[in-house]
This record gives sequence, C-alpha cells and structure tokens, in this order.
Amino acid sequence: MLFSSSYLARPKVELHLHIDCSVSWTALQRLETGLSFEDFRAKFTAPERCASLKQYLDAIAPSCALLQDARALQVVTEELVAELAQDGVIYAELRFAPHTHLAGGLDLDGVMAAVAQGVRAATDQYAIRVGLILCALRDYSAESNIAVIDLAARWRDRGVVGVDIAGDEAGHPLAHNYATFDRAHDLGLDITAHAGEAAGAESVLEALEKLRPKRIGHGVRCLEDDAVVALLKARDIHLEVCPSSNVQVGVFPSLDQHNVDKLSRRGLSLGINTDARTVAPISLSQEYERLESTFGWGPGEFLAHNLEAARHAFQPDAIRAELVESLLTGWKSPRSVS
Ligand SMILES: [Zn+2]
Repeated sequence: MLFSSSYLARPKVELHLHIDCSVSWTALQRLETGLSFEDFRAKFTAPERCASLKQYLDAIAPSCALLQDARALQVVTEELVAELAQDGVIYAELRFAPHTHLAGGLDLDGVMAAVAQGVRAATDQYAIRVGLILCALRDYSAESNIAVIDLAARWRDRGVVGVDIAGDEAGHPLAHNYATFDRAHDLGLDITAHAGEAAGAESVLEALEKLRPKRIGHGVRCLEDDAVVALLKARDIHLEVCPSSNVQVGVFPSLDQHNVDKLSRRGLSLGINTDARTVAPISLSQEYERLESTFGWGPGEFLAHNLEAARHAFQPDAIRAELVESLLTGWKSPRSVS
C-alpha cells in the first residue's frame, strides 16, 4: 500500500461499506479482465464531486456487470477484506443487494455462498472479523425484499449479521416496505436503513418510526429537525456517516461544509465510513486524514467514534466487548499492520 498514514496502524471499525462499490484493482487483475489500470480508474471510479447522480451510478455499473458469477463475487469480496485488514480495520460490516447479482444465472443462495467463501478466504489469512448485511432495495417489490429478509435469516449462522434498505431515497418512499421490516423484526434480525442522505430529516423520521432500526446509514440531514435529533439520541441510534461519499454525490458542496463535526458536537452516536472504497476512491485511513486536516480531529475523536461503532456493531455482547478492548489497546499503542 503506497499511501502512508499514522492511522493505518490504528484499529478501526467500518460499518457502512458496499461490496459492489469496492472492486479493487488487485481483484480485477486476479479475474483477468484485461483492463489496464487507466481503464480501471476511468470506469470504476467516479469524480470527487459528481456533476449528477447519473455520473456516480455510471461508475457502479461496470462493478455490477462484473459481479454476476461466483468467482467474481468471491474474489472481489476476498480482496476487499484483505484491503480492509491492510488499512487497519479490525471489524467490518459489508453490505450488498443479493438480487443485483442474478443476471449470470446464480440464485440467491449461490450469491451468498460465493460472498461467504470470499470472506472466509480472507479472514483465514488476516486478523479481521467481518459481518454481512443484506440490502433490500427501495425500488424493488415487497416480495423481492421479503425474499432478502428470509435469505438473511437463513444465512444468519453463516456470516449474515443484519439487513438494510438501500436505493434511491428521494424517488422511492418506504411505505410498501413497512411490512418487510416487520418481518425482519419477527425473525430477530438487526436492522440499519439508508435515510437522511438524498432526502431530509422527514426521511430519517420515517425510517425510525416505520422500520425501527438500530442504526441509520448516513442520517446526516437529521440536523434539519431538532425533534429528529432528540429522537435519535433518546433511542441511542448510531449514524453511519460517510463524509467523502456525501460530498461526491453532492449532499454537501465540500468536506469543510459537511456537518459531521456538528453531528459529533451534538452528542449523536456516529462512526466514520467510506461507503465505497473504489467508486470514491478512498481508504478509511485516508478518510481520517481528511477529517483531521478539515476539522482538526485527532486520536481522541477517532477513538470515541470507533468505540461508538463497536458498541453498535451487529454482534453479540461478548464480541462487541472484545472490539472495544482491541480499540482501547490499539489507540494507546499502535499495532503493526500486516
Ligand atoms: Zn451506502
């Protein structure tokens, strides 16, 4: 890894990361796609500030096209987990929408088996723990999304830790999926939900009231409504904040105008995430460097937000306690990164 940062050696937790936005150059080389590095950067990466959502989505399309067979899913996942470990991440939750990987003939369980195999191959080699989150999609039918919830329940003992709802927040209200998430509750699944990114505080409120999640993906626009902020705090809801990704899609015009520092000062539980390591392209250590130079954040802030993320990880108490312990130890004395 050419990038050098003191944060590489610090243990980190990343809870919000999409596999299909994180296809690495190493994975592409292993898959022998024949693409040059220049082609890879041109096709799989979006500009730091996209002129439109379309420009951002254009950068995800080649990854989706690639991730339609078991080997591609396995290799891309394995290389992503390896990259996270090299970035000093000790616990990651990776998410994906299983229905978007069926065009090559895989069925939903085939998709799960390939991703799980990729996780296993990397976690056998690196000191990192990984949980999988399955995404329902706002623009998919309730029937398809219920299939995702049932799939998550079936794979719970094989790496799945929770479910999410993703997709175009502004264009697709949640109403037809309220019952989908009632089912997730009935099955005892942990829930996070994308909200408060492309739409405002009312979208965060809707997700809170109707889906009853433990965490919100992004949620940054909650600051538009004090009552929503109060509710988030009262329910101890954790925000998975992805600063550079928000700037890339235009939620904020620049990082110095991002509200992550304000969210933190308001006492909300939040963690720092990349959302998309290739489409961005950024590592978690780089994200920390940017927050350090923009807001003057240092080890105190980063440890506190990592502890919040660990406390809200979709894991049993004993594992969350282990993560907290590793963070406290590692931020006192940096460990060496393999
Ligand atoms: Zn996301």
